Amino acid sequence: MAIRIKLFLFCSLFCFLTAASTEQPSADSRQIRGALEFLASDAMQGRGSGSHDELLAATYLASQLREIGIQPAGDDGGYIQNVSAEFDFYREGKKQWNTRNVIGKLEGRDEKMKDQVILLTAHMDHLGVGKPVDGDNIYNGADDDASGCVAVLQLARALAREKAPKRTVLFVFFGSEETGGQGNQYFLQHPPVPLKNIVANLEFEMIGRADTSVKPDELWLTGFDRSNLGPELAKHGAKLVADPHPQQHFFQRSDNYALAKQGIIAHTVSSFGLHKDYHRPSDDVAHIDFNHMEEAIHSMLGPVKWLADSEFKPEWVEGKKP
Ligand SMILES: [Zn+2]
Repeated sequence: MAIRIKLFLFCSLFCFLTAASTEQPSADSRQIRGALEFLASDAMQGRGSGSHDELLAATYLASQLREIGIQPAGDDGGYIQNVSAEFDFYREGKKQWNTRNVIGKLEGRDEKMKDQVILLTAHMDHLGVGKPVDGDNIYNGADDDASGCVAVLQLARALAREKAPKRTVLFVFFGSEETGGQGNQYFLQHPPVPLKNIVANLEFEMIGRADTSVKPDELWLTGFDRSNLGPELAKHGAKLVADPHPQQHFFQRSDNYALAKQGIIAHTVSSFGLHKDYHRPSDDVAHIDFNHMEEAIHSMLGPVKWLADSEFKPEWVEGKKP
């Protein structure tokens, strides 16, 4: 090989590498995209509630928590809390159901405050494989709720990276939300910390696309006016506003509601703009707006860190407790 060609190749390679490095997305966006593409892939078969595919999602989330450095708080020193019990199903009555939750814990550093717990949650299941729509029968649930699971993972990552917060933070991925919340019911019956110690719960649901009913960088909080948590988070930088779709009763439509009924200040963070892909096979990776999702997650990091370090205890607004 002639020297001139070598030089040419060297220059080309150098230019290529320089160009590639300037276009490289941030670690955050790679993690977000990587986790979402796995959870919402066709290989996961739509993470059907209580199914083997839901177990695969749980195993993946558990392994991510391990890698991030979050302590396990599930059964027998692991992250998974196995759920096997009889539940009362809407319309079908009582039946046996097997599912699981994934539970990780970041212990608070303050001796006096570490008994206080901030609970960050999402649900890992979706509708599995079902009736085909336009030739597609996999209900991937990219927005619902792989996006929320990824948000919880990224919050775990951000909190684990720095000095532990004063309060303890629990990260929980619920199973079987779509079938009526069997995961959250079991969690409430077998909590890893006393329920009275849970200061606040934020569930993350459907943040993979922007809602045109609010500003592009805003998220909304279900039941915003029911407690002073939303307004206080907004004061500390969260771009949180009231749910613009009150007629949809979203406060009652996710895991947070079961917790709220037990008295825990529990709301859902979302930017679901009532898109037509909801609960259809087309809720897939191709419809995720990664820029929005990244910005949404990023906007909650500071406020969640503040909450985990603060002495602020949210309260229900009089007469608004469910
Ligand atoms: Zn959902």
